[in-house]
Amino acid sequence: MPKPSQPNGSPTRLVRPLVRRLHAYVPGEQPKVKGLVKLNTNENPYPPSPKVLSAVAAAVDGRLRLYPDPTAHPLREQLARLHGCSPDHLIIGNGSDELLALGVRAFVEPQPSGGNLPKAPSRHRVQYFSPSYSLYPVLAETHGAIIHPVPLMEDFSLPPVSDLRSGRRWDFKAALTFITTPNAPSGRGFPTRDLDSLCAAMKGVVVLDEAYVDFAEENALELCLRHPHVIVSRTFSKAYSLCFQRVGYWVGHPELIAALHRIRDSYNVNGLGQLAAQATLGDLPYYRRNFRKVIATRTRLARELTGLGWQVLPSQTNFLLARPPGPPARQWLEALRDRKILVRWFSTPGLEAFLRITIGTDQEMDTLLTTVRSLFRPTPDR
Ligand SMILES: *Cc1c(COP(=O)(O)O)cnc(C)c1O
Repeated sequence: MPKPSQPNGSPTRLVRPLVRRLHAYVPGEQPKVKGLVKLNTNENPYPPSPKVLSAVAAAVDGRLRLYPDPTAHPLREQLARLHGCSPDHLIIGNGSDELLALGVRAFVEPQPSGGNLPKAPSRHRVQYFSPSYSLYPVLAETHGAIIHPVPLMEDFSLPPVSDLRSGRRWDFKAALTFITTPNAPSGRGFPTRDLDSLCAAMKGVVVLDEAYVDFAEENALELCLRHPHVIVSRTFSKAYSLCFQRVGYWVGHPELIAALHRIRDSYNVNGLGQLAAQATLGDLPYYRRNFRKVIATRTRLARELTGLGWQVLPSQTNFLLARPPGPPARQWLEALRDRKILVRWFSTPGLEAFLRITIGTDQEMDTLLTTVRSLFRPTPDR
């Protein structure tokens, strides 16, 4: 083999300085170990509806040579009927993650230097709660935007409205604000009433990321139909058991949605994903039964862990954030991992004492509880 020529040193120098400095998003691990109880990435424990599986199987033929519908029009029509809006209010993404990235690119002006100037104007800013979805800062920094995290209260609830009025923590003019609701990784839901006042105070675009909303008591869809600067983000991944297919969507004012269509890839959503999402909407009662099952299991797990001395936060999602008793959470993570149970631990300040546990099947929760009991016994006087 010829020796590669390297006249000017390492090729790393060919990468943009901003990209060289970036920290990539760290997803939960996906090991292929037999008998693993996987409670680390908030996947749904129940399979997609049989109708979805047969729709996908039936489409796997010579048609794979064709490009899919470029705007996912049939799926957008179905979603428009479901949400009482028009297809112009909708864009489908390769997972909602793609749309989050498109939103940053469409609404936030990157800094000319790509650096992080402390006094930079709001048009360069991406605002979000801390802690919330850890992808937001990655997307902002990739774009050369400025991150503006707004700390939640210690119990992960919203800062008081007085704070909001004074603007002590908020940048009302931030180009883009991401609000995860219900929030991750806390699991807490935010009342639509409070979100409404928050949205009303913001001058830039507000994205309500409702990835977990089907497990919650309320949703804020009405806000994106009422406020022209508010967008609601949904996904088929979590509640609709379709992570593998990568389909998410945004609902918002047609002019904002048109801006996103302008910058997306021509065929951003794969054909099988579109079909699977369409078949999903054709069998919603199946999924609603699963939501009820997940919620019932969540209630039981919260009760049982509380009985074992864990501090469990109230959850409106398909996971629990819980603080184990005794040894540090990180040690629990490893002890559970040794026993083939995967949960998630975050090194983020304020979260180190907690584990995030995805709600699995009742059987998986029994395995978890049996293991937890065997690992640590609270002392009798606790
Ligand atoms: C999982 C998740 C998403 C992304 O889901 P996709 O699979 O990309 O649709 C977005 N936001 C939050 C808060 C999530 O937890």
